[in-house]
Amino acid sequence: MFAKVIIEYATKKLDQTFIYKVPLVLQAKIKVGMKVLVPFGNKKIYGFVLELSNKAEENFAIKEIEKIVDEELVLNEELLQIADYLCTTTLCPKISALQTLLPSSFKAKRQKSNYELSDTFVKLNPEANIYAYQKNNARALRQLAIIDQLEKNGSMLKKDLASSSLNTLINNNVVLCYKVPKYRLNQNKGQAHRVILTVEQDKVYKQIKAALNHQETFLLYGITGSGKTEIYLKLIADVVKKGKTALLLVPEIVLTAQIVKRFYQEFGSQVAILHSALSEGEKHDEYLKIKRQEVNIVIGTRSAVFAPLENIGIIIIDEEHSVTFKQENTPRYNAKDIASFRAKYHNIPLVLGSATPLLETKARADKKVFTLLTLKSRVGKAVLPQIHIVDMLPELKRRNHILSALLKEKIQKRLEAHEQIILLLNRRGHSTYINCSNCGFIYKCPNCDITLTYHKSSNNLICHYCGYQKQKDNLCPKCGEDGLNYYGLGTEKLEEFVAREYPEARIIRMDQDTTSKKGAHQKYIEAFLAEEYDILIGTQMVAKGLDFPKVTLVGVINADNSLNIPDFRANENTFALLNQVAGRSGRKELQGEVVIQTFNPDNFVIKCVAQNSYDTFYQTEMNIRRQLKYPPYYYLIGLKVVGKDYHKTLAEAQKIKNYLKTKVAQETIVLGPTTALILKYNNEYRFQIIIKYRFDEELKNILKEIDTMYVLNKDINVEIDVDPLHL
Ligand code: ADP
Ligand code: ZN
Repeated sequence: MFAKVIIEYATKKLDQTFIYKVPLVLQAKIKVGMKVLVPFGNKKIYGFVLELSNKAEENFAIKEIEKIVDEELVLNEELLQIADYLCTTTLCPKISALQTLLPSSFKAKRQKSNYELSDTFVKLNPEANIYAYQKNNARALRQLAIIDQLEKNGSMLKKDLASSSLNTLINNNVVLCYKVPKYRLNQNKGQAHRVILTVEQDKVYKQIKAALNHQETFLLYGITGSGKTEIYLKLIADVVKKGKTALLLVPEIVLTAQIVKRFYQEFGSQVAILHSALSEGEKHDEYLKIKRQEVNIVIGTRSAVFAPLENIGIIIIDEEHSVTFKQENTPRYNAKDIASFRAKYHNIPLVLGSATPLLETKARADKKVFTLLTLKSRVGKAVLPQIHIVDMLPELKRRNHILSALLKEKIQKRLEAHEQIILLLNRRGHSTYINCSNCGFIYKCPNCDITLTYHKSSNNLICHYCGYQKQKDNLCPKCGEDGLNYYGLGTEKLEEFVAREYPEARIIRMDQDTTSKKGAHQKYIEAFLAEEYDILIGTQMVAKGLDFPKVTLVGVINADNSLNIPDFRANENTFALLNQVAGRSGRKELQGEVVIQTFNPDNFVIKCVAQNSYDTFYQTEMNIRRQLKYPPYYYLIGLKVVGKDYHKTLAEAQKIKNYLKTKVAQETIVLGPTTALILKYNNEYRFQIIIKYRFDEELKNILKEIDTMYVLNKDINVEIDVDPLHL
């Protein structure tokens, strides 16, 4: 028996397959889709079995497969098809696609035993003559006591009984030991609080339920607080009742906390969760639970879309507009596309939920490719919050740099009423740059062409792109004077300011810096929910999906941060962010308010947010996209040409552009090369070519050809991003 194996090189992602002999001992076990260890040169290297056959194609000395990495770990037919799909759609190498399908604990060279925990139990041997043993050992009182206990309890943890008497019983074959896999995350069902769906919710629920036996994609467009999660719960309960499984994707780890809690309450240990804040061991356990079909619901972030669920009955993507569903490095896939592939494979519904659908999604719903379902009102007595726009220019003159007079006053009122407040500032750290007033010196990253952000808690200057850090100096490193001044506002400085302004208020800050510890997200959310704090300050992390009944005021400190990013999606992302964060206010009985501070009060995005008008925003933005030939009117592909030498890289980018021009279809537009948004990143220069097209059958082949040309080039790298979410 022979196996075709695709191997994992350490460095370059090169697709190469080799034929290996399957040794006799492995022949009964080996399957297509298994990970194996094979000899390669004088090394041992990992690979995946792609084919098995009885005839070898070549005749020279064929080496033998060394071992199967893990017999439980088989990529099934569906996952292998997904790997092919990833290759053709994102133009990635097959080996990257295959690796992406497995959690990282399987990629590492570490041993399986490091991850898998188990408990040892003991029980009476059903084949032993216990009665006779008791009679013959009438004076071994300890042994008799253990037998009594086991008779009463059936089985017990070995460590609870550990003693020499137990060992004697085991040696005499009266007691048996056995292992039970132990998972790190374990949840029992809680008090399920049944809600009765509102008329509006019920209508949506029934419509999707009627589609459970065929493929249909739904856009569930429901305003914030309209109760989408409850609909997901009901649908998933139905699917599980039918003996099928369900997959729910959420955009952020922070969001998993609240949703997972709700699902644990309802379904307990039937739920597995997958996201990057789990430890390697936890991820490994959750993956095995799914693989062993011990759970039937998976909730997770982007990569959970590859969960090895069988017999899926529904796939739901919450906050479908989120950019986090797109992976930013190879393979540059979008979890929504994979979800769509799987929904077709299983012939089941795919539900895309959002209060601010991505333009592409809404456009497809308008064209009836997707079925549009709408939730127009909040649940119960809750209504959408009142939104105030504050022009910050006059505020600056009144020396209100950080908080406007209006926001200050409203914070004071809500504090007095013992209600809660969320303040959004989309920038972490203390000051966004430090500038010497004496010589004009500015701290910049030595590897990237951007300024360093000051983080006061660690007294470090940090590059938010490459992670470079250095200690801050007391005196200017250039002129030696005491002239260093702090500019630009980050969450750390905002927290300081708010604490000074409201000394009585209890404040927490949630951003990447404060939540890097495992479990921190969850702890913060629980504490805020338990009203241990009055004000929650945070980056976009606090904007999405969270449900705090006591929050009645949301303040957006600087709405322009995201509006000013030079990207075709800046408007769309800003609208979604502001609408989302506004949606955190007044979700239950208490009426909510929102204050948005901006230097662009007349900008149509801000105005649409204030009027809570997704439809107006959608129409206006669609017009802009049509004029500028952006998605959803045109498809987009971004090429980055990356290299250490500025001129060589630019010249190469020009060459690629010229080549493309001669090859692409006539209506296809090739733009650039221009400098990327961050030209120098990690000591490499990056030039960008943008392709806009509508129909171009050959385009992906041409790009694949270009990609292959540069795989072995040491100086120049080409990164291709199909359907980028930003440029
Ligand atoms: P969305 O995800 O649409 O923003 P949620 O699903 O978080 O909204 O629901 C908002 C709040 O309303 C939650 O606290 C939820 O528990 C509650 N809720 C949802 N549906 C109902 C219902 N039918 N009856 C009572 N409360 C509900
Ligand atoms: Zn840097």
